[in-house]
Parts: sequence; structure tokens; C-alpha cells
Amino acid sequence: MTKKRVGIVGGGIVGTSVAYHLTHYYDDVEVYLFEKNTIGSGTTAKSAGTHCLIDDSVPHDFWSVRLHGFKFYTDLEKKYPGSTGFEKTGTLLIAPYPEYEKYALQAVDLAVASGYQAWYWKDKEKIKEIIPDLILDDVLGAAYCPEDGFFDPTMISSTLARLSREEGAHVYIGTEVTTINMDGNRVTGVDTNKGHFDLDVLVDATGPWEPFFSKKVGLEVPIIHTKAEVFILEPVESLGYPFPVLKYPRFYARKDKENVFICKAHLTMDLNNPDHAGVWDADQLPMTGGTDPYFWDFLTEELMQHYPRLLESSVANDWVGYRAEPRDYMPVLGKTPVEGYILAIGAGGNGVIEGPTIGRDIARLIMTGETSYFLDKLPLSRFEKELEKHHKVTW
Ligand SMILES: Cc1cc2nc3c(=O)[nH]c(=O)nc-3n(C[C@H](O)[C@H](O)[C@H](O)COP(=O)(O)OP(=O)(O)OC[C@H]3O[C@@H](n4cnc5c(N)ncnc54)[C@H](O)[C@@H]3O)c2cc1C
Repeated sequence: MTKKRVGIVGGGIVGTSVAYHLTHYYDDVEVYLFEKNTIGSGTTAKSAGTHCLIDDSVPHDFWSVRLHGFKFYTDLEKKYPGSTGFEKTGTLLIAPYPEYEKYALQAVDLAVASGYQAWYWKDKEKIKEIIPDLILDDVLGAAYCPEDGFFDPTMISSTLARLSREEGAHVYIGTEVTTINMDGNRVTGVDTNKGHFDLDVLVDATGPWEPFFSKKVGLEVPIIHTKAEVFILEPVESLGYPFPVLKYPRFYARKDKENVFICKAHLTMDLNNPDHAGVWDADQLPMTGGTDPYFWDFLTEELMQHYPRLLESSVANDWVGYRAEPRDYMPVLGKTPVEGYILAIGAGGNGVIEGPTIGRDIARLIMTGETSYFLDKLPLSRFEKELEKHHKVTW
């Protein structure tokens, strides 16, 4: 039987997960992973890597996605120690208003029902046992889970690329896909700076390059960028307690060796504000620096209100990443009107959490034609009206 030739464009946490699932669960497939830079060097390298069991980043409808991702990475870590860079710091999620409290309570329920330890505390003394320096006057309570934390997403991508290669995948770094070859409406291959490849299927996992990449097949996918601006704070004096992932509705923080990584919360972005959202050239992003004063002022105000001690720090580093996503903040997955062109894009601020499910479900779709709850909820066709404006699309 001839093998299905699947090309994947993008060696971030999403593309490498697709490669891993294709090579580990299916026989009749030849996998080609094209990465124009190095593995995990795009948005994946800029990420906080938090993967918390209690969190507001992915709606509870998709709890199985969160749980599957967490188990996938922690199993990988058990099998290959050090392969995911897991730091089990726990997560403290502060609830300042009733809606958020409800969300936190359900998160605790889900974590406990799934066999993990988690609590919701009204008692402020309990919250202060985790972070003594928080100002809790206007707070209703907090959820705490000691079992989760954050991962190193670039390390995960490298691990998945290595494991895929061991199972026969061809992993090409420094290899840019420049042209997509078509026969009518069907993808037949790609041209790269390292030569031509014949393919049956092409998976677009280009992250923030997507708004430009899919134009090569005439598709305009409604992906925008939201700015994720990170500041690494170096406290003047050691805080003197282990630092968990700290989540407020408007910002989050986690440890970064002896320092603290802090960022404006993803869901607070104003999609109509050009300082927050737009479409920019990801190739122009520097590895570090380039942050806007607005984001620093925003975080300073938050810290002043909730955690003034953290302002007794210098800024050791800062950088900007582009989260690529549609306006509903959920990925765009699966088939397109172009035959053989599959989307694994739009993971926005949740690509680490969603990567294992995207990889699993996209691999199954390609190899068996079967879809899933996640894919069915998040097809490109949910933007049908928007797309019709640009193309004559038949679904
Ligand atoms: C500051 C910040 C914090 C975040 N925190 C979290 C978090 O705590 N938890 C979480 O789950 N998510 C988080 N995210 C989101 C997460 O990091 C992203 O969703 C994820 O990394 C996206 O992965 P990707 O593989 O889709 O894209 P990328 O990592 O950007 O990979 C795309 C790759 O495609 C390659 N490429 C593009 N065009 C071509 C081409 N023509 N040919 C070959 N290669 C090409 C690029 O070089 C790149 O390596 C955060 C993001 C940021 C910026």
C-alpha cells in the first residue's frame, strides 16, 4: 500500500504535535515537517508555558482538552525525564467577583473529579499561606491546585520532533515553504528553499505567519494577532516563598528561575484597539525587547493594587509575542475548501494546552477521515459569512 505523504509547515508546539501523532499512531504515512527557522523558535519560544488545571483560558466546555494536554505532557515527562521542562509550582487563581468565583469553583470541581487535589478558599489566611504579600481586601476567595504549573514549550517541541524523527518523520529545519503546488483545487506538493516535495496533504501550522501563508492557496483565514507583552521582574530582595502560577482576571505571573514572568491576561485584550490587536509581520519581531509602555503601565497599576511588593523589582528582560487567533479566541481546525489543505492554526494564547488534542485529532482526520468533538466545534466554516465576502466558497 502506498503511504500517504503529509507535509506539515511549522515546527512549533502545534506542528510537532501533529508530526508526533501521525508517526506514533499510524503506519501508512510519510511525514515531512518543514520549519524555516529552528524547532520551537516561533511563538512557542515566547510562551509562558502555563498548563494549569484551574484556569480561565479555555472554556470549561473544553475541559477534556485541558486534561488531555496536561496528562500528555506529564506522561511524557515521566517517560523521558526533563523532556518537557515541567515545573510543578501549583496555581493560585484569585476570584475578585462572583462570575469569576463561579468559574473557579467549577474548575476546582473538574480537577478534583479528575483525580487531582484542588481547593477553593474563602479564608484569606489560607490564601496568604501561598503568597503572603497579596492585598486581598476586595477578593471573594481563591482556587488553589498544587499539582500543576508550567512547561518549557520549546523543549516539548524539540522532544516531539525528535520522537517523530525516530519513528521515520523527515524533519527539515532552516527550510521555508515558499510555494504550494496545486492541481486545480487540490494540493500536490510544495517548493522550499531546499527543493520540491510531492505531497498528498499539507497541514498549515504556521502560527502567526498564517495570515500570509494561506494566501498561497487563495484562502484568507480570519486570523488576527493579539500582542502578548512579557516582563521579567527581578525582585530586589528574594520573595522568600515558592512562587506558584498566579492568575488574576487581568494579569498572570509565574516564576522564571529566581525572577517573575508577568503578562496582561489574554482575554482582556481589546480587539478593536490597534495597540492590542492587528496583523503584523512576525518576521520583524525581535527575540527580546520591543514592548509598548502601555502594557508596562497596565501591569504596574495591577501590581500596585494587588501585589505592591513585586514592584520592588527591576525589569530583567522583556519581549513581545503575537498570539494568532480568530476573534472568538479559539483555534481553526481541519479541512478547508482547498482539497488536501488542513488547518492547525489559531491556538492564540492556548497552544500549549491545546497542542496535544490538535495533534491527535488532526492526525486522525488525515488518516481515517474521522472528526472529533474539538474539530467539529472549531471548523473554518464557522466564519462562513466572513469568508464569503472574500471568496466564492463551497462547503
Ligand atoms: C507571551 C505568551 C505567553 C503564552 N502563554 C501561554 C500559556 O501559558 N499557555 C498556553 O497554552 N499558551 C500560551 N501561549 C500561546 C502559545 O505559546 C501559542 O499558542 C503556541 O506557541 C503556538 O504554537 P504554533 O505551533 O501554532 O506556532 P509557532 O510556535 O509560532 O510555530 C509556527 C512555526 O511556523 C514556522 N513557519 C512559518 N511560516 C513558515 C514557512 N513558510 N515555512 C516553514 N516554516 C514556517 C515558524 O518559523 C514557526 O516556528 C502564549 C503565547 C505568548 C506569546
